[in-house]
This record gives sequence, structure tokens and C-alpha cells, in this order.
Amino acid sequence: MTPELIALLALQDQDEAIDGIQTKLDALAPRVAELEKRLRQATDGVERATATLTSEEQRQAYLREKVAEHKSVLERNQAHLDQVKTMRAATAAVTQLEQIRRVLADEESDLAAVTRKLGELRAAVEASRAAVFAIEAEQSDARAAIEQERAAINAEIAEAQKERATRAQAVSKNVLLKYDKIRVKKRPRAVFPLNVGACSACDTSIPVQRRYTMQNTGAIELCEGCGVLLYASV
Ligand SMILES: [Zn+2]
Repeated sequence: MTPELIALLALQDQDEAIDGIQTKLDALAPRVAELEKRLRQATDGVERATATLTSEEQRQAYLREKVAEHKSVLERNQAHLDQVKTMRAATAAVTQLEQIRRVLADEESDLAAVTRKLGELRAAVEASRAAVFAIEAEQSDARAAIEQERAAINAEIAEAQKERATRAQAVSKNVLLKYDKIRVKKRPRAVFPLNVGACSACDTSIPVQRRYTMQNTGAIELCEGCGVLLYASV
């Protein structure tokens, strides 16, 4: 093995180590997502309870208006009844009064029901808000732990990147450029040995002449099949 190849493989080892640390960082995301999901379910609950409360409050306001309106109609009609002259007109006025009283009674009973229900709905909104606070409190330790892990992993990555920079300096610019280009394409590995005269990544066989050159000079070459860096592992 040439010093260049040794340096390149050391660099690849380091990059694989960094990928491994990166995986630990990626593993934090679903844990955060799980916490967010539970919290969102609770805040959705507050929204739903508040929406129901608002709509029932509107219904209460509507019924109050109707009750007031029909009470004043009732008063007017009662005053009118005192002034009717004929029996027929009196009968008609009484019938109308009865009708209004029935409507009013229904509305008053609806209003009472809505007012009772509002008490329960306000309690439900309070309970759903309390549930959000409880979940936030319950999650604060878990979130702090995740952030601590994230900070530790980031420090580990920074340390590993420093080591990587040192190792990269030992590789020639030309080879490093090719190597980095392959890594950018999200290939976990960029450097492969020849395996019985073929690329050990894609099995494309390397012409005999080129293979000999690689063996004799320790040259690192691109595989024409899959684009990885190849070396002869004599
Ligand atoms: Zn290949």
C-alpha cells in the first residue's frame, strides 16, 4: 500500500465514523416528533373545546335576543287585548297570546339548557388547557435530555471533523477532489479495492493493462462502471 492509499483509507474510515455519529443525531428527530405529536393532540383538544364553547355562546346570545323580543311582543299584545271591542277580536288576540307564550316558553327552556351546558363547556376548555400544561411540564425533562444529547453529538461531530481535516491533508488534492465528489452523491463508501480484477462495488472488470499499472504504481483510479475510487489490494 502506498502512503497515499493508506491516507485515503484512513480518511474514509473517519468519514464512516462521522456518518455513524450523524445517524445518532438523525435518531433524535423521531423522538422530538413524537413529543410534538402528543402536544399537538392536546392543543387540538383546546381548539376543539374552545370552538364548541364559542358556538354555544353565540346560540345563548341568539336565544336571549329572541326571548327579549318575544317578551316585548307579549307585552304589546296584552296591552292590545285590553283595547279590543268585539268577542271575536278578543278570541283571536287570546289565541295569538297563547301562541307567543308557547314559543317563549320553548325559547326560555332552550336558553336554560344552553346556559347549563355552557358551564360544562367552560370546564372542558379549562380541563383541556390544563392537559396542555401538564404535557408541557411532563415533556420538559425529555426535551432537555434530547437537547443535551444533541449538544453532545454535535460536539462529537465537530471533534471528528477536525480529525477528518487532518486526515484529508494527507491525501493529494487530485484524489481528494474525486473522493469528495463521490461522497457528495451520498455514497457511504467511495474507495473500494479491486476484487479478482474487478471493481468490488459493481463488479465491472478492469482491463488487464490498467490493473497491472495500478498494482505496480499504487495508482488510485475511478471505476468506469460505478464511479468509485479503486485501488489494487495486492
Ligand atoms: Zn465500480
